[in-house]
Amino acid sequence: MKNLQIQAIPAFSDNYLWLIHNTSSAIIVDPGDATPVLAYLNQHQLDLCAIVLTHHHSDHIGGVTELLRHFPATPVYGALADQLNGRIAAITHGCQQGDSVDFPQLPLRLHVLEVPGHTNSHLAWYCPELASLFCGDTLFAGGCGRLFEGTPAQMLASLQTIAALPAETAIYCAHEYTLSNLRFALAAEPDNTNLQRRFEQVREARAHNQATVPSLLGLELQTNPFLRTDSAGLIQHLHSLKRLPSEPDPLQVFTALRSWKNSF
Ligand SMILES: [Zn+2]
Repeated sequence: MKNLQIQAIPAFSDNYLWLIHNTSSAIIVDPGDATPVLAYLNQHQLDLCAIVLTHHHSDHIGGVTELLRHFPATPVYGALADQLNGRIAAITHGCQQGDSVDFPQLPLRLHVLEVPGHTNSHLAWYCPELASLFCGDTLFAGGCGRLFEGTPAQMLASLQTIAALPAETAIYCAHEYTLSNLRFALAAEPDNTNLQRRFEQVREARAHNQATVPSLLGLELQTNPFLRTDSAGLIQHLHSLKRLPSEPDPLQVFTALRSWKNSF
């Protein structure tokens, strides 16, 4: 696995498609657009050996059909539920919690985590050997995905599943939302010095058009309010803003944060 590279392929205005490859083969995570993926594969003379999907939104699957035209035999891995209900017709291998998938061409093994909330069949793909998580629109650098289908309780549980991974896990989320997420995080927890420092670093990086993902789980645990529903400073501040009762439980904290962020 030492020779594997994880390449960000920017797409649309703020998406990252993640390509994992060696010198001859590649797998693509969430190809919302085929054109930049095909260009990279061509340029580096790579064969596409698998397509891996986190959820059904078009900016994550929109390029699948076109990629399959160029690489017709490529297996497509996604949520079993989306295969069964036909929401992602291209899935050839439906996956669920506890499954692991081997990609011998790289070689690479990915473990399946079910992380509902953004959608009700959202998957994350975890690679312990690369200390990497491909989590789509679940956890973002400094924030989390909107709840289009799932409940706050589902999303909180999904984020807690991710939070339990090793702190050195790299978080390969699918969007460059970090700066605006951290603006909200600062409003929610203004006295968090780790967060203040991170905001300045991210502002500097974005001023130079640098990517701020992947992030590290350890940094998210220190600075992402959606992973800090037990932080005394955060709770106290939300309480002072009359957004929380005294002594709230984590679900109340998460729900208050998510609802505030929706209109922030
Ligand atoms: Zn989405």
